[in-house]
Amino acid sequence: MTSDGVSSARVPARVDLEPSARTVPLGSPPVDLLRRLRARGAGDPVTHVERVPARVGVPAPWPDWAQPELRAAFARRGVVAPWQHQAEAATLVYGGGHVIVATGTASGKSLAYQLPALATLLADPRATVLYLAPTKALAADQLRAVVGLELEGVRPACYDGDTPRAEREWIRRHSRFVLTNPDMLHHGILPGHAQWSGFLRRLAYVVIDECHTYRGVFGSHVAHVLRRLRRQCARFGAGPVFVLASATSGDPATAAGRLTGLPVTAVTEDTSPRGGVTFALWEPPLLPPDSSAPAVPTQAAGDHDAMTDLVQVRRSALRETADLLADTVAEGVRTLAFVRSRKGAEVVAANARRALDDAVPGLGDRVAAYRGGYLREERRELERALLHGDLLGLASTNALELGVDLVGLDAVLICGYPGTRASLWQQAGRAGRSGQEALAVLVARDDPLDTYLVHHPEAIFGAPVEATVLDPANPYVLAPQLACAAAEAPLTPADLALFGDGTKEAIDQLVEAGALRQRPTGWYWRHRERPEVDLRGEGGAPVCVVEAATGRLLGTVDGSSSHFLLHPGAVYLHQGVSYVVDDLDLADGCALVHVEEPDWSTHARDVTDLSVVSVRSYVDAGPVGMFLGEVDVTSQVVSYQRRRIATGEVIDTRPLDLPIRELRTVAVWFTLSERSMASAGVQTADVPGALHAAEHAAIGLLPLMATCDRWDIGGLSTALHPDTEAPTVFVYDGHPGGAGFAERAYGTASAWLRATRDAIAECGCETGCPSCVQSPKCGNGNNPLSKPDAIRVLDVVLENLPA
Ligand SMILES: [Zn+2]
Ligand SMILES: [Zn+2]
Repeated sequence: MTSDGVSSARVPARVDLEPSARTVPLGSPPVDLLRRLRARGAGDPVTHVERVPARVGVPAPWPDWAQPELRAAFARRGVVAPWQHQAEAATLVYGGGHVIVATGTASGKSLAYQLPALATLLADPRATVLYLAPTKALAADQLRAVVGLELEGVRPACYDGDTPRAEREWIRRHSRFVLTNPDMLHHGILPGHAQWSGFLRRLAYVVIDECHTYRGVFGSHVAHVLRRLRRQCARFGAGPVFVLASATSGDPATAAGRLTGLPVTAVTEDTSPRGGVTFALWEPPLLPPDSSAPAVPTQAAGDHDAMTDLVQVRRSALRETADLLADTVAEGVRTLAFVRSRKGAEVVAANARRALDDAVPGLGDRVAAYRGGYLREERRELERALLHGDLLGLASTNALELGVDLVGLDAVLICGYPGTRASLWQQAGRAGRSGQEALAVLVARDDPLDTYLVHHPEAIFGAPVEATVLDPANPYVLAPQLACAAAEAPLTPADLALFGDGTKEAIDQLVEAGALRQRPTGWYWRHRERPEVDLRGEGGAPVCVVEAATGRLLGTVDGSSSHFLLHPGAVYLHQGVSYVVDDLDLADGCALVHVEEPDWSTHARDVTDLSVVSVRSYVDAGPVGMFLGEVDVTSQVVSYQRRRIATGEVIDTRPLDLPIRELRTVAVWFTLSERSMASAGVQTADVPGALHAAEHAAIGLLPLMATCDRWDIGGLSTALHPDTEAPTVFVYDGHPGGAGFAERAYGTASAWLRATRDAIAECGCETGCPSCVQSPKCGNGNNPLSKPDAIRVLDVVLENLPA
């Protein structure tokens, strides 16, 4: 069960932890613990301390339409009354409004849809409900919750790829609360709509849980799957109400409107109770200049095990987190450390264990690493050991792999911003038990976004700005989805408005390509087979990495990064083991590797060209221009450098023979006049380095505005571009047709570039480092880069651009 609803004890309906005899409870407030932690090194790494106060819940009476038997069912589960935001959302939904509930972790979003949905099922014995979750596991959790209410006649059931054939027909005919996922809706339910007609005809509600996960290209596909669902319902005379649940985000009503194509009301005020947390932002100190060493790959490259040529100038976040973990465990404080990569989690646990054993032999045994690969029982055993205090420290990859009962810890360490505020709060939410204050620490990695956040606490603790973006008008998504729709039932002119901008053009192209045939009654799918469309397919098929000697599959690499990471001769790291690539077979989508640990790393170089196809929108701001439009990007990985790991010295550069890749996508770009840059003090020779540095940092900061990561986005900067005839910085979506990221960047341009400028200016390094202007995915070896001139360029843009 997810931790929803109000429990009678006014604490979350989860295991509330009692300090065990072996655990020293946090005798003093977390402030004292924090004081001791920050006093142990030279200089103060803490940039901000936020006291997130405990909040008292605001209960509301049951809505009068909620039947006594339904109230009694919730009461049996420990919910005596809804919180105010749950009652408000539920009543809007029951009244027929489309609603998104966007509140924090464990705020009880599920009651907001369960209440109206179940009340309707009880009141109308024919009505049905369709529930969509992004994962089977979440649907299974939700099924347990609904089954646990023991309501007569609801007959809830999961319908997904694991559902036995024998049960499917029973579910279609008899279940009134079907739980599934968008993939099953797309591949199974909609194509088989004839068998589902009874269910769809009576469909009262569509519940879309965790809807912030539907972003980018995947989100754009799901948006059309939902339009196809609405179309089938309409054919049967039904018009279901949509209820969405989301993590907190910027502008949830707009995102939900894009996802469903309907006007949606947002409920965002969280009235559930929570414990108090002291939240510290921690920036690892700069290293003394002479101790610079090549960066540790696991942390410079985030979750990608790519070697980079970045020079480390700060103490690594992994080392800092390991020290903090050792210190808290030494004090008897139950601590959970979140680390972005699996290998990183093991490094943190191993280093903490070593430090503790050095201090008190045997103490290291109280720390463990927790990985996704463990069996369910092993994971539950580790969780149990931590809850009971046999273990005091655990380093883990992400919150979703942990059991929902693992809460109530004394301290949570977060090694590197986890990418979204939703994940950050989900991780921090593991700290704190009722009546006791807890400590959370965000340790910044050397990444421009992390640097920005530890210097701008308002971006974490203030109103959210990061929005879930998707772009249903992406022609690479729209056309295949229209083909699916036509295969389900001929398209008619009435569908043009339903599927939105670009639909007519896409249909015309499908007709021209021979996929659709136009008849007086509409557009018909011409083939016997249904179109093959994968909702999650993006960036080309993944490339398999295979050990040649054994045939063992080591893992897969995104098609779009494969040229970079798996070219012949590339040193490829997989879970800490070093391999060298013998051959990259692009036709088979497979790279053959052998184990080898040379004393060099490899760094691919690419040549990228970009041409402007069309301008969608622009802002003319005197010497500065800001644009949004379509672009063609061609890129080719042409060579790689080998560098000594110990010194960073270049051994040689070797040519590569890889094909050119082409991408038609959406970009945001800005131009500046040469004069404005000169008067800001940028020398002509420094213009390329200024623009290049600004581009890197701008890409690093875009995830502040939109839920994406820097690997979703590409960039190009040039002192003179033939299409703009000016110095220009381009930032483009790395997915064919665009995924909404560039559009969001354009829409928030001044806030986005202001944050970019501040991240660069606030980094304490002298000439640029991975925390500000260097990028782990640069195809030019981070050269040229000019940190001070990047600030000047961005100042010119910000002075001229309207806010
Ligand atoms: Zn820096
Ligand atoms: Zn670059």
